[in-house]
Amino acid sequence: MSGYVVPFLDEAQTTRMRAEDFDRSKNHCHDAAWNLLCKRRQCLFRLRPDLAKEIELKNYQRMEEGHRQEALMRQEMVDAGFKLWHPGRVEWEEFELTNEIDDMITENPKGERQKIVLDYKSCDPYVFRDVRRMGSYDDLLGSKYWWLKHYPIQMLLGQARYKNQEGLLVFKDKSGGGKHEVFGLLDDHKELLREVLARMKEVNKHVAEHKAPAAVRIPECEKCEFLEFCFPDSPPMEGEAPMKRISGEEAASVITSLERMAELEPLAKEYEDLKGGIKSMFKGESVRVGDWIIKSTQVQKRAYKVPDEIKKEYEYINTYFTVRIISVTRPI
Ligand code: SF4
Repeated sequence: MSGYVVPFLDEAQTTRMRAEDFDRSKNHCHDAAWNLLCKRRQCLFRLRPDLAKEIELKNYQRMEEGHRQEALMRQEMVDAGFKLWHPGRVEWEEFELTNEIDDMITENPKGERQKIVLDYKSCDPYVFRDVRRMGSYDDLLGSKYWWLKHYPIQMLLGQARYKNQEGLLVFKDKSGGGKHEVFGLLDDHKELLREVLARMKEVNKHVAEHKAPAAVRIPECEKCEFLEFCFPDSPPMEGEAPMKRISGEEAASVITSLERMAELEPLAKEYEDLKGGIKSMFKGESVRVGDWIIKSTQVQKRAYKVPDEIKKEYEYINTYFTVRIISVTRPI
């Protein structure tokens, strides 16, 4: 028997999450970092949210799972002896900003009174492995995962709104349950905060005038809910091949391969990390360990030192295509 439970669960989940959709008449902390990239997106969300691409079920599933993990983490904090205060939604009228910080630590298990803005984030094991190496907001801002860059800005806005120096992000590995924390001080990021708030004022001005800035194609457009509205014909960026849509059996087969590729990605990354790590440990020595042999062999390759003027004489531009595969449904 199939289709007995899942379609009903999916429909109920979609209805539940749609009902949770928040008020788009204000700027939101959690995507404020977008105004560093594209103020148009912030304006469109406030002026024409109906033009945004509908959220897909799999993103609702991911978001709701994240909410559940947050609730679990909150309970773990309480069980560990932290006293928390949940500020609820707080408006920052001056910037037409609405704030969604998860909790505030008011007392630690040693009984010391504190005020630390706290936010829980859950991530898959693949991302968690990288997050675990990050110790500061700056590390997150420099992350290759674009959505991680938003977190410190969300936090700084919360810290500034509550006039709190300290902010703490607690990450949890959704699969293994491991945790990692990243602290950030407001004073260390004053310049960034100033820039975000200044740009938010520009967004507010555009919204008051009922117009959004012109669309300018940037790499992040691929992830944006307004891509089809801004660029209905998807004009390519310089050097990009024109975009075409594929459908039917061809699309189904490519989607199957892409989804399988996404499933395998964490394992492939782990495999490459392990293999690279082991190889670099034993460069120049061979060992036998357990059922394995790690063999290091010296290789000689012929190389040529060519003077620059000769190189110039033979220089030419080799034109070819590179291919990037981008998931447009990663959470913001
Ligand atoms: S598609 Fe690009 S230009 Fe349009 S709102 Fe999104 S990020 Fe901005």
